Amino acid sequence: MKNIISKRRIVQGLVGASLYVLVFYFHISLLYVLIAGSILGIILGKVFCRWMCPMGFIMELLMGNKKGSEAGQMYQYHKLGCPIAWIGGILNKFSLFRIRHNPESCTSCGVCDRNCYISSLNENFSLYKAEKKASGNSFSCSRCLECVSSCPKGSLKYSFLPFGRSEK
Ligand code: SF4
Ligand code: SF4
Repeated sequence: MKNIISKRRIVQGLVGASLYVLVFYFHISLLYVLIAGSILGIILGKVFCRWMCPMGFIMELLMGNKKGSEAGQMYQYHKLGCPIAWIGGILNKFSLFRIRHNPESCTSCGVCDRNCYISSLNENFSLYKAEKKASGNSFSCSRCLECVSSCPKGSLKYSFLPFGRSEK
């Protein structure tokens, strides 16, 4: 999993460029892109922004290697006009794949929260503090999976969460 996450920008660039070609050169209706984005949202949550979106790819190039709150301040606002980001964000809380925390192996080191642009910008959210709202279920989580790859204990997993199990 960490291997795939470390190549996320390459995936995003390739998928984003392919989508751009499909939509603009082959005149694929944006409605189809929207439907596909919604289906993806139901299964994986808001993966479109950070794994597939050409605009998101450009934003990340501008951001360089910034992480946490610095990245969040630059990144958050360009998505506000995108319907796929809205649909994916709403579905984050209900998607079949979600970020799960294992409190038994967690040492509360806080690395995940420092790397997440949601937790680091808003103190009401956390990836490991049970009394706070779960960052991975929030509208703004774009499934970058930095939290998963940065946890030294492997206490965060992006995995299938069957219907009926509720996490905050
Ligand atoms: S990085 Fe991992 S071990 Fe550290 S607080 Fe987060 S979940 Fe717990
Ligand atoms: S995937 Fe993890 S690090 Fe990325 S925005 Fe969501 S909760 Fe934060």
